[in-house]
Amino acid sequence: MEETHRFVSVPSPTGNEAAFAQCYAETLSGMGLETIIDEEFKGSPSVIGRLRGTGGGPTLQLDGHTDTVPVSHGESSIDFDLGVVRGRGAADMKGGLACICEAIRALTESRVRPRGDVLVTAHGLHEAPLGDQRTIRSLLRRGVAGDAAVIAELGHDHLAIASRGMSIYRIQVHRAGTSMHEVELRERISNPTSAVRLLLDRLEQRAADLERQNDDFVGPETLFVGEVRSGDFYNRVPVNAEIVGTRRYRPPTTKEDVLQEFEALCATVAAQTGLVVTSSLQEVGPAYALDHSEPVIAAVRSSYQDVVGGDLPLASAQAVGNAADFAAYGVPAVYHGVNQTTAHSDDEHVTGADLARAARVLAGSIVHFCGADADEEMR
Ligand SMILES: [Zn+2]
Repeated sequence: MEETHRFVSVPSPTGNEAAFAQCYAETLSGMGLETIIDEEFKGSPSVIGRLRGTGGGPTLQLDGHTDTVPVSHGESSIDFDLGVVRGRGAADMKGGLACICEAIRALTESRVRPRGDVLVTAHGLHEAPLGDQRTIRSLLRRGVAGDAAVIAELGHDHLAIASRGMSIYRIQVHRAGTSMHEVELRERISNPTSAVRLLLDRLEQRAADLERQNDDFVGPETLFVGEVRSGDFYNRVPVNAEIVGTRRYRPPTTKEDVLQEFEALCATVAAQTGLVVTSSLQEVGPAYALDHSEPVIAAVRSSYQDVVGGDLPLASAQAVGNAADFAAYGVPAVYHGVNQTTAHSDDEHVTGADLARAARVLAGSIVHFCGADADEEMR
């Protein structure tokens, strides 16, 4: 609890994580980890810590983001009687980052020596819209990766092993010429709003088709329209129109498949209206599904069983998180951290009991995944 409170007391809104990265790096090196601060992204350095194993075991990566949403919050506090830490980032996810430290500390203090390395990575630029995951993606691209990873958030009573991918699509309609009075419009169809009507009809049809192809585990593919805009005055013919929304998809559907789908739709509507209709796609995260036999799944579930005494059910993540980025670089990743129900809220908090449980599950996950021996020399 004290460590979570100490972390929460160092603000780190997205894009300004340097002071907290320094604090986290000092904490890891103080615990005996080989620690470096990676300055590739100014203002948003990544922290890389490594606890060397005794050899012969796989490397487990424990990962988390250092930034919090840039939304103000009441002053941080710690209440030992109630066992609660409050403040921006308490749940999302400085509590999880503190659990990573506590898990490693618990092993070293009880003289348990993992055979494989424990690699700790903490990175900024996570929370959208400023956060775009370039930090963690860069680390993974450069091979700063374990054989598997546990991300210390987004799961505490289930284990997500799959997730739908999500892209933001943008369809733009354009006609030649400038704005003009409605009475000057010769062909009704060349009004960009005609294309919007056709597009909305087809998007709705496609959304209904996708909804019917349900998948019980990962959930249905979806197509959602969130923004429609065109025109600037009641009797002027608009020049442009735009539709923006989300498209969620299951493996093996990729961003390329989805882009093709939108391009085909745009070509049809362009042919019907004579307007220029184009689409673009920004992928927030790809779809992924882990093989159920991945050792990291068994490691976390066994540890959870040891600590909590119950089964940790497998699930599909509802939100897009960094496990999708790990999967894209061939690193199987799952989530386990504190309860994040209050994340991003005006009363963000985490309980001491929850922190203790998550830290113990992470410690056990290291032992199950990396293998471990009791350190005889130190006795
Ligand atoms: Zn988070």
